[in-house]
Amino acid sequence: MAATVTPIVDDQVYKLPLKVLVIKEKKQVLFAEAGKDFVDILFSFLTFPLGTLSKLMAVESNLQEPVRLGSISSLDESVTHLEEEHFRTQNCKEMLLNPRNSLASYCQKMKLNIDDATEPIKYFICENWECSRKVSGSLLSINFRNERCTCGKLLNREIFRENVTLEDGFVKETARFIICDDLHITPNVFGASVQVFQKLGITDMQDIEERTMHISKKEVVNLLKFSLISETPMTDFIFKKEQPLDKFSPQLQFDIAQVPSDEGKQMLVKIQIRKSNGKIVFAEAEEDFADFIFSFLTFPLGGVLHMLKGFSSLSCIDKLYKSISDLNAERYLRSQEVKDKLANPRCAFHFNVSNQMLPIEADCLPVYYCYSVRNYVKDRWVYSGTLVTSPKAITRGSEMDAPLNIVDPRSPTGESSSTEGFAKGPSIYMVTDDLVVTPMSTVFAISYLNRLGVPLFDVEERVITIGLKECLGILKASLTSASALTNGLKHLMKSIKREN
Ligand SMILES: [Zn+2]
Repeated sequence: MAATVTPIVDDQVYKLPLKVLVIKEKKQVLFAEAGKDFVDILFSFLTFPLGTLSKLMAVESNLQEPVRLGSISSLDESVTHLEEEHFRTQNCKEMLLNPRNSLASYCQKMKLNIDDATEPIKYFICENWECSRKVSGSLLSINFRNERCTCGKLLNREIFRENVTLEDGFVKETARFIICDDLHITPNVFGASVQVFQKLGITDMQDIEERTMHISKKEVVNLLKFSLISETPMTDFIFKKEQPLDKFSPQLQFDIAQVPSDEGKQMLVKIQIRKSNGKIVFAEAEEDFADFIFSFLTFPLGGVLHMLKGFSSLSCIDKLYKSISDLNAERYLRSQEVKDKLANPRCAFHFNVSNQMLPIEADCLPVYYCYSVRNYVKDRWVYSGTLVTSPKAITRGSEMDAPLNIVDPRSPTGESSSTEGFAKGPSIYMVTDDLVVTPMSTVFAISYLNRLGVPLFDVEERVITIGLKECLGILKASLTSASALTNGLKHLMKSIKREN
């Protein structure tokens, strides 16, 4: 388990009430009836980066076994164990282990925000105050106080943002919804609930019982887990089934629909195939492939769903995601803009990888100014500053300069936008079928084969070309399978078999 798992501290004070209709005999949830508070929580799941989801999956709960998110959990753990020297800067590892949520400001006001282990953003300028009052070229570091200023001192003076406004979630205050067992969300109109009754063939209303649950933060984490591993998350959640996980068998569809394979950039990857079962044991590739795999941790779940056109094999997440496009933005969501953001959440800024093969973008860099005010304290002038997003009218004793240059924490030279990724190169990396990334070492590879019980004569090396279709395949398989490479590249394997 990853070392950075923070236990969820249950808020003793607040529990969210939730009304559910259940079939008593069958112990099954028909649907829940809820408003903004609960539906915002469900939608917030789509804003979490996969790395955050993997950590939340590892949080202790009343489930019998720890649950894992496909190969994402092992990828996340491998980053924990990777020495800092393999990353471009010492911040890269921290960034991958705690990827920022680009829509965090939409979640922070929610009554039960399970991603609150993520610290609020911090801002640092040069400890030498004169540096931050330069006409241009003053530096700002976000979240990292170890960056060096051009003057040689550290950017470690914390300043605070003025008037930070938090967004009020995703759905309208007055909207009411029905949430089906599979997390499909529809407006709460009578017709919708009748449809649920008819779909389940319920005629005897005697079996139906209304219950009001009171949900804590810890229980929201359970609900998140069920939504990623079960086809009936609401039932499992309400009846707190403690079943072994092999009961869940998601429909694994690894095929990626119509993607022209020869489009855009390609990567060359050496793979070691086990001849006797056709499985990929590991891949060997340059830093661009390692970066491509690392970047999965930074993708928001909703962004992944967008790339996979709503078909991720996580059946309930697919339903939850589809609910967004079905809901009328005018009536149910806070605005069309909120709907668009939720349907295609981006990576946070600085979390993009140049030459990213997948169609996912990162947020643009924000523009900040340091607004400094001079005060006469203890017989001398001292400066204090706040971070503002637009230039202010200059008043007496205050100064306002050019926008600050935001330092990319991945840039070894303090540039504001680094053109590369997280992994240090030139270097060769080894990526196992379950996406454990390590620097290539023959000794390690041999002992890995030994551990798996794969004899050397059973291994065959192939060089394959990876394009968009293959990248989407690996991403999709990584969500549900511990054989992300084998399943994600299945179509290539078929042609290799035919050659043999
Ligand atoms: Zn400086």
